[in-house]
Amino acid sequence: MTVDSALRSPMMHSPSTKDVKALRFIEEMTRNVDFVQKKVIREILSRNSDTEYLKRFGLKGFTDRKTFKNKVPVVTYDDLKPEIQRIANGDRSMILSSYPITEFLTSSGTSAGERKLMPTIDEDMDRRQLLYSLLMPVMNLYVPGLDKGKALYFLFVKTESKTPGGLPARPVLTSYYKSEQFKRRPYDPYNVYTSPNEAILCPDSSQSMYTQMLCGLLMRHEVLRLGAVFASGLLRAIGFLQTNWKELADDISTGTLSSRISDPAIKESMSKILTKPDQELADFITSVCGQDNSWEGIITKIWPNTKYLDVIVTGAMAQYIPMLEYYSGGLPMACTMYASSESYFGINLKPMCKPSEVSYTIMPNMAYFEFLPHHEVPTEKSELVELADVEVGKEYELVITTYAGLNRYRVGDILQVTGFYNSAPQFKFVRRKNVLLSIESDKTDEAELQSAVENASLLLGEQGTRVIEYTSYAETKTIPGHYVIYWELLVKDQTNPPNDEVMARCCLEMEESLNSVYRQSRVADKSIGPLEIRVVKNGTFEELMDYAISRGASINQYKVPRCVSFTPIMELLDSRVVSTHFSPALPHWSPERRR
Ligand code: AMP
Repeated sequence: MTVDSALRSPMMHSPSTKDVKALRFIEEMTRNVDFVQKKVIREILSRNSDTEYLKRFGLKGFTDRKTFKNKVPVVTYDDLKPEIQRIANGDRSMILSSYPITEFLTSSGTSAGERKLMPTIDEDMDRRQLLYSLLMPVMNLYVPGLDKGKALYFLFVKTESKTPGGLPARPVLTSYYKSEQFKRRPYDPYNVYTSPNEAILCPDSSQSMYTQMLCGLLMRHEVLRLGAVFASGLLRAIGFLQTNWKELADDISTGTLSSRISDPAIKESMSKILTKPDQELADFITSVCGQDNSWEGIITKIWPNTKYLDVIVTGAMAQYIPMLEYYSGGLPMACTMYASSESYFGINLKPMCKPSEVSYTIMPNMAYFEFLPHHEVPTEKSELVELADVEVGKEYELVITTYAGLNRYRVGDILQVTGFYNSAPQFKFVRRKNVLLSIESDKTDEAELQSAVENASLLLGEQGTRVIEYTSYAETKTIPGHYVIYWELLVKDQTNPPNDEVMARCCLEMEESLNSVYRQSRVADKSIGPLEIRVVKNGTFEELMDYAISRGASINQYKVPRCVSFTPIMELLDSRVVSTHFSPALPHWSPERRR
């Protein structure tokens, strides 16, 4: 059933008044895409015309798209860095936005190894809230009865810092969970979480996870959907259960909270949830989790009423689909929305479709959207396409203009148009530009990997050994996942090849060289495991080339792939491994930015 038919055929379905309002809003937005976009850019330009940034381009009061496109350049984060740095340092003049920048959202994309800082204004929270409010009305069209139980969502806040000028810098979801809108959200039977706010808001991710899992177990029959923002987060929760189920079962059996929980707010809220011993539940958990070899379908065993998993499995997260299928016994996976720190973008109008068929419909009221045809090198004269004018089948790079002052900003996402809903195009998320390796929110590009390999290989120099070739692989079958780097070495002194200690130091040096999101995931979030180097036999990369050529690659143009995932190639590499080494310690990371 579509949103439209649900509205037009109330006999088939009778959405609540609140849902009808949301569905009507979607209808209105998707029918009037171009009109809404025109209005959005007019609003943005009228209010920001006096900013230092826009004044530079001499818009002379014009607020139409044509003038805007003619005068204002398409930019990347690095182009805006000087302005962003000034705001971060405390300059309160109207640099990018005429409204005060209230905080910076720290994107998982990086620039010079540090998270990007995205300016945001107070009212952006309402725009994000609006997009969230559309999700359940759409879901309710496909999955009835979600008001009869709860959602077990693993939600976390992350470390935040302050910029030198005193503005908070934190991830968008941390900002949202800490907001009054979230903390004081009115009771909505369709959105009841098993996790208390106190657990979600606890900055210690281990105490937070423990409590959220405990609540999920205590309320296991009430759970109708299970989720995390990204697939990697849900798998981490399963991994956590694997290591901690005994302690959790103990708490349930005695009716007391583990001494590992020291957070007073959690203790207080759990005193109302964990009120008495439940031996039957503890025995059940022991019997199900104690079968070491049989975690297949564990989600449906423990939470038998789960109707679907609410996790993003598009883009880099697609690598987790097989693992989620294994643990959930093939439950549907709903990818409900597409968003970023820069702006929230859109929603999936068919949330129960297969992961491979997911398309997001951009809501035209969120920002002004333009599309740079992919594969075209942008020039001064490049024509960017309007949201309403993109063509089915074509790939584009997303460019946005936000109320908070990003103008014609390249987000770095490549999207493909799959069709239209009313006059609103629907997009498949193809990939993030320039991302080679990703386990969760980390994004490592080719240049970062290259310099990490170079830095680490310096440690081999004393012995005259060199790295002659390398490639990489995101190992996601382990929980947490980790980076695997294959090295082929030229060992000068065959009688004295690098020993495990040296190689382990190389692993750590690579980690030290990777960007701050990677290091934060390793150190604070523990969502990435130690980096592994697999040394392969001499000649392996020759064989890799022969293989590629046998499959049609041109000898002249052959380049060593810096990341591999194709099974036969993995098998070839793994069959040539002579030694494996792991990083022996955590790299350095602190919430403070490197100056
Ligand atoms: P961040 O920079 O941390 O705000 O992350 C935003 C980025 O995450 C987007 O620009 C996308 O690359 C990715 N992302 C967000 N939502 C989705 C989704 N539904 N599917 C695939 N990738 C997504």
